[in-house]
Amino acid sequence: MVENSNLRLEEYRRDAESCPGCRGCIWVDHIFCSGSKYSMRCPSLYHRKFDAYSCMGRNKIALGIMKGEVDFTPKTIEIIYQCNLCGACLAACKRNLDLDTDMTLETLRIRAVEKGAAPIPEHKAINDRIAESGNRYGLDNSKRGGWLPGTAKVSDKPEMVYFAGCNSSFRNKEIATASTGILDSLGASYALLDEERCCGNPLYESGDADAALEQAQQNIAALKATGASTVVTSCAECYKVWKVDYPKLLDRSTGEMEYKVLHITQVANKGIQDGSLKLEHPVNMRVAYHDSCKLTRCSDDWVPWHGERGKYGVTIPPKVWRRGINGVIMEPREILASIPGIELKEMIRNGMSTLCCGAGAGVAEAYPEYTENVANHRLDEAEDVGIEALVSSCPYCKDTFTKAAEQGSRPIKCFDITQVLNESIYGKGGL
Ligand code: SF4
Ligand code: SF4
Repeated sequence: MVENSNLRLEEYRRDAESCPGCRGCIWVDHIFCSGSKYSMRCPSLYHRKFDAYSCMGRNKIALGIMKGEVDFTPKTIEIIYQCNLCGACLAACKRNLDLDTDMTLETLRIRAVEKGAAPIPEHKAINDRIAESGNRYGLDNSKRGGWLPGTAKVSDKPEMVYFAGCNSSFRNKEIATASTGILDSLGASYALLDEERCCGNPLYESGDADAALEQAQQNIAALKATGASTVVTSCAECYKVWKVDYPKLLDRSTGEMEYKVLHITQVANKGIQDGSLKLEHPVNMRVAYHDSCKLTRCSDDWVPWHGERGKYGVTIPPKVWRRGINGVIMEPREILASIPGIELKEMIRNGMSTLCCGAGAGVAEAYPEYTENVANHRLDEAEDVGIEALVSSCPYCKDTFTKAAEQGSRPIKCFDITQVLNESIYGKGGL
């Protein structure tokens, strides 16, 4: 069992106790919200429409479990896992109170695994496949880098590693090739990991912290072997795992890690701003940008805290609070604004107030009807601002919206931002 008090439910007892049920974690900030149609920030509550399925409700369950008044029953397990761990409640709650709601939700899952009540079968199947094959799909991991074009300018002594992740390695390969296309155009010094394995996101979010730690150690060792000091991801889940969860599992701060993590949008935007990335081909399209929750609210640096609570809950030593405010929000918008021909519209829920696509934290695999419902609600919001395409920065968001759009025969197209960027760089007409 991972020995780290920051991963123990009791560490967040005061947080759960201090929740007065103000419902701030449920609604989008009022000043940004016009009308009630798109006013809810919690996808779980949107789907279930019962307060237990909100952060507020899960705080009560966490407290009940700590007090021995509530058990891990099939119903409490369903409530705990019908949540995207999307951070909407964290960012909202921190407007008023310093409650680490994200950690209460995460450690509740870790406790469920410790008690033998989880991982739930759908998550266990993924975790078993990762253990056996090194990827979430159970495919031959030696073919993981098969998407890499022969023309890619991979370096022998890379400064950065492009970590494609399971999804873009095996499913949305166009995102992986578009990402290396961007790095090539920038003249970046990059390589892939010799032995890339799943980042471990499904393991950690299912509550299996031990397996996630093992995965972290393997991937960090593989990175070290390359000599590179920067990890670049095009997947929002991988980004959060490398930046936040690996340090968390190792009980170190993000700043203490021997590597730096960047999302491809940060790398590309820097190139656009300094003139090294040329966007010469117009992409004539009216789009909205969907902020992935893991890229936006969930990826503030991790800083461990080991201390005591004094009078009125004062933290001794002072705790560095994560408020979900330092995410990658402006870079994708600056990129889209720089592409000739793109007309960028904003949805009501954007930036820190984004709505999760509905897939995250194993919900898509375990509760597909939840994901379908939330994805369709988000597509309604996108269509209401009159766009042709929804652009995102995570392969899971793209998968989720594409599936919902196809099932509903909606005219809206769904792209990853790397694809749109590649079109403007190379003009191959691939969209
Ligand atoms: S915003 Fe925070 S304090 Fe208010 S109900 Fe939600 S979790 Fe509780
Ligand atoms: S993490 Fe997201 S889905 Fe879960 S309770 Fe918070 S807002 Fe709702």
